[in-house]
Amino acid sequence: MSNQKSFDYIVIGGGSGGIASANRAAMHGASVLLIEAGKLGGTCVNRGCVPKKVMWNASHLAQLAKHHAGDYGLDLDLSGLSWSELVERREAYIQRLNGVYLHNLNRNGVTVKQGRARLDGPGAVLVDDERFEAPHILIATGGRPKIPEVPGAEHGISSDGFFQLTALPKTAAIVGSGYIGVELAGVLHGLGTKVSLFSKDDDILRHFDPMLSLGLQEEMENDGVHIERHMLVDSVRKLSDDQVCLVDAQGIEYGPFEKLIWAIGREPQTAALNLESIGIETTADGYIPVDEFENTSATGVYALGDVAPRLQLTPTAIAAGRKLARRLFNKEHDLKQDYDHVPTVVFSHPPIGTVGLTEPQAYERYDRDDIQIFKSDFVNMFYALGDRKVRSRVKMICLGKEQRVIGLHVFGDGADEMIQGFAVAIKMGATKADFDATVAVHPTAAEELVLLK
Ligand code: FAD
Ligand code: NDP
Repeated sequence: MSNQKSFDYIVIGGGSGGIASANRAAMHGASVLLIEAGKLGGTCVNRGCVPKKVMWNASHLAQLAKHHAGDYGLDLDLSGLSWSELVERREAYIQRLNGVYLHNLNRNGVTVKQGRARLDGPGAVLVDDERFEAPHILIATGGRPKIPEVPGAEHGISSDGFFQLTALPKTAAIVGSGYIGVELAGVLHGLGTKVSLFSKDDDILRHFDPMLSLGLQEEMENDGVHIERHMLVDSVRKLSDDQVCLVDAQGIEYGPFEKLIWAIGREPQTAALNLESIGIETTADGYIPVDEFENTSATGVYALGDVAPRLQLTPTAIAAGRKLARRLFNKEHDLKQDYDHVPTVVFSHPPIGTVGLTEPQAYERYDRDDIQIFKSDFVNMFYALGDRKVRSRVKMICLGKEQRVIGLHVFGDGADEMIQGFAVAIKMGATKADFDATVAVHPTAAEELVLLK
């Protein structure tokens, strides 16, 4: 690390958004300092998307081997899972990625400082007692898991703790039925844990299109995941060193479980940033308010990714970070991130791919008569030879006479890989007629989307 104290751009947080922005700014000639308190890559690489996808792959493979290999005449003797080997391989991969991030930052000339940063008045940042200055400062400090304030909550772990497990639990309670709850439930169940998923609402994934949440619920329950609805944990009781039970407001006990995983959402990491020193007020939840250009209320200070009250997805943090750098250092003065029509996947079993409005959102935003819905429900051909049929579902939501596609929801095998390409078409303004005019690829599940009646 050089003795340089003054930069064009200081980026606080070396996660998805921060690294992308720092690299892009440096490519445009800015002198950049990136400050990271933990490991390069942030949540996504170290305790999010990447290790999660590795675990999803393992679980998917186990499910195929256990339930479907026999349908194809394959006699696979699945004698067990070496959790330690899986974790070791996963962590070695992550370590390689940490190195790749550092290498790329170095190659682009970004100065990387290890430490926890806090603001120190306009244009200044402190790391321990070292003071750095820049006319442009990006806050990309991300978030961390929320833990509820109920007695005994400390007996549970978060998704961070999930990635530190040293053995596959025999039983697990997962509280919260959003992205993380549903994904970890699927991963653990597929690998052999007896899973109970606790939702405080009627349905899991309640912000998604109802076809997706209902479809997934049905498949998960058919597959043996227990879903407990309308259950808000009031307290957690430790029964022994490796057994807890959950208690609701009526005193009803659920369990025992070897592991309890909280998956009730995340909170931004802003508390220790000394935002007061530059006059930034956070929202009640601690997020940093920003305008459409990622500007905060303080001149020359920007915030994006999970620390801003927007989508919490790696690709949006990366895209926003790069665009901000281009706006600041490549004279692309009007450039900003478009947060509409962002496709997203839930890595459930089977997965969900979705882009655009849900059916309830479409009815809320537009006249009911202007909305047309096209649906299909089918069994993927992969399951044709066996008794264990897993259903797929698709829904297309169209607007107006021209039938512009404003929402597309896919549930079933392949949905995760399918949605990206369709999102391009929808972003370009594709209509139902454009889908109809596209010749199907046969035999695939994706062809259902161009054959909807
Ligand atoms: P982060 O990646 O969290 O990076 C912030 C960085 O800032 C961290 O490295 C932190 O150490 C550092 N930091 C914080 N405070 C300071 C400070 N004061 N000084 C210096 N450094 C600091 N998204 C997807 O798109 N697809 C997925 O499949 C997916 N799966 C996920 C699975 C899980 C279990 C989780 C938890 C998240 C998942 N996400 C996924 C979400 C994704 O990880 C986040 O949206 C993304 O990482 C946000 O990027 P960011 O740059 O805003 O923050
Ligand atoms: P989510 O917001 O997706 O889900 C949290 C869930 O917990 C919701 O069902 C919420 O219900 C519920 N909840 C809130 N408070 C309580 C409580 N006290 N008791 C029980 N349940 C409660 O957050 P996650 O933690 O699952 O994930 C955080 C974010 O990370 C996601 O929103 C997503 O942006 C990102 N992510 C993306 C992934 C991907 O792209 N595949 C994978 C994992 C994470 P309600 O909605 O009613 O408040």
